[in-house]
Amino acid sequence: AERLSATDVAAVFHGFAQAVERDRDLLTELDTAVGDGDHGTNLDRGMRAATEALDAAPPDTPGAVFNLVGRRLVSTVGGASGALYGTAFLRAAKAAGAASTLDAAGFAAVVRDATTGIAERGKCAAGDKTMYDVWTAASAAADAAVADGLPAVLSAASTAAGGAEQEMVPWQARRGRASYLGERSQGHRDPGAVSSRLLFDCFAAWAAT
Ligand code: ADP
Ligand code: MG
Ligand code: MG
Repeated sequence: AERLSATDVAAVFHGFAQAVERDRDLLTELDTAVGDGDHGTNLDRGMRAATEALDAAPPDTPGAVFNLVGRRLVSTVGGASGALYGTAFLRAAKAAGAASTLDAAGFAAVVRDATTGIAERGKCAAGDKTMYDVWTAASAAADAAVADGLPAVLSAASTAAGGAEQEMVPWQARRGRASYLGERSQGHRDPGAVSSRLLFDCFAAWAAT
């Protein structure tokens, strides 16, 4: 399909909640190696609350879906990722506005503003080895594919997110708890980068159906 409706975006978030539940232990193990070992449980709790809220009162627009998910994450996830994902989705909601659907350009704009929100909230930059590196890669790929239509945008964003998550493994973390490890953060996967990659995979999976 060339457009994402509110129902579509809600379905993607249900898929993301399932992926986070499936990979909760992996995310937590990755965070045990470089942080405080709560990323999987944090995000699982938050996405469970978010999907319950979506089911209880299904929003009418993609923007309202992003807004509800963002608000639930901020209120249920204590860690850095709650504030970061929360900010990302609240910015996404603003970018989506009151539109009833998102096309290729609309989705690319949503990801762009969400990515800027992460940078502002996290005071992070490209190369700091955080989830932001995955979002910037996905956003750039989405922008570059807009002329090819929505499925191409979603597929390109997912491929770029996966590439970035792998590429950053040897890097040294410069933000978040992993940065406390200094050089010892090298060689580890970043938990937030892995969960962000899962999100973009879920958008691509929607496009493939
Ligand atoms: P906490 O570190 O508070 O326990 P989580 O474990 O849920 O939070 O999330 C950790 C992830 O959040 C990291 O893997 C990283 O991707 C992201 N992160 C942490 N701090 C920052 C920051 N300042 N800027 C961008 N991303 C960050
Ligand atoms: Mg943690
Ligand atoms: Mg924590």
